[in-house]
Amino acid sequence: MKPLNSVVSACPPSGIRRFFDIAAQMDDVISLGVGEPDFVTPWRVREAGIYALEHGATTYTSNAGLLRLRELVCEELASRYQVSYAPEGDCVITAGVSEGLDLTLRVLLEPGEEVLVPEPCYVAYQPCVSFAGGIPVPVSTSAEDGFRIRPETIEAAVTERTKAILIGSPANPTGAVQTRADLTALVELAERHDLYLISDEIYARLTYTGAHTCLSALPGARERTVLLGGFSKAHAMTGWRVGYLCAPRPVADLCLRMHQYTMLCAPHVSQLAAVEALQAGADDVAEMVSDYDRRRRVFVKGLREIGLDCPEPGGAFYAFPSIRSTGLDSETFAERLLHTHRVAVVPGSVFGAPGEGHIRCSYATALPLLEEALERMATFLDECSS
Ligand code: PLP
Repeated sequence: MKPLNSVVSACPPSGIRRFFDIAAQMDDVISLGVGEPDFVTPWRVREAGIYALEHGATTYTSNAGLLRLRELVCEELASRYQVSYAPEGDCVITAGVSEGLDLTLRVLLEPGEEVLVPEPCYVAYQPCVSFAGGIPVPVSTSAEDGFRIRPETIEAAVTERTKAILIGSPANPTGAVQTRADLTALVELAERHDLYLISDEIYARLTYTGAHTCLSALPGARERTVLLGGFSKAHAMTGWRVGYLCAPRPVADLCLRMHQYTMLCAPHVSQLAAVEALQAGADDVAEMVSDYDRRRRVFVKGLREIGLDCPEPGGAFYAFPSIRSTGLDSETFAERLLHTHRVAVVPGSVFGAPGEGHIRCSYATALPLLEEALERMATFLDECSS
């Protein structure tokens, strides 16, 4: 047989999935490995989905998505962050941020163009850049620096082939939230070098230590930023596959063109459920966010008490403690912890080289399980040091 696509063949399978698969075959595992809410979608949103099915919402929608949903998305962005997008023209409803990211990269990139990607980062960023024909250029951030994306470090990595900077704030896997000052400086450097900014704001509603800064709302940013958002995390809707992208008109136009041919539209029922989430889901989101915050405080304090240094995660639902004190690499740590004490975490190395020496723990897990996981980890750490 002729060889398969070389770029896809060269891409390793996701390191997170591997741990999932091992954990799924074991009993009594506490999983801190998954990147999704442990809440089921709030009832009013599920009910809207059921109602939609009962009433025959089984067709395609317009390619850009239901106008009502686009209007609600744009209204929310305008009222929360004072950034203005036209529902007809600047906004496309996608099958999650995942599809939005893929469309954006394929629309922005010519073969061989570079995208700067601060690491540690979400596992899909670099493969998606490669799949779109681009070259991901990792830029390190560090725990000592609170995983700050320093504009000067980014600027040092710019070449004549650089086309875009791809960031997520709040971030997976670190929970880091970038400051308004750093983001403003990032926009200024994007203007200086004429770069696009791709801003994954899927965790925008999950911030605990201050208000979210929407990148495209910063001065000068809107015309060079693609804003990606969704329902998976804050509304606990991972399985519905619905999100959105908002972009300057020429970019949004081409994303829509691509989406027309590749996806047609996001699932109709999911779009109607998302309408309900935006219209009536504010209290549900607030309740889940305050629950995550409670767990975050207990869990981070607990990690520090058992001897793991943990930078303060200001957003998302991940803690990213250092395991350097054990002398183990993150892969060995995660494998041993899983096999000996049945706690599943993700080795930091799967999020890029600067993630080594850390593990990602999701605290989107019930409090009693988090407490039990901390006890098991404490025993494991005792064994490591004896
Ligand atoms: N972006 C980040 C940073 C994520 O952590 C995830 C999922 O874990 C996604 C995007 C995927 O989002 P969606 O479910 O909207 O495709």
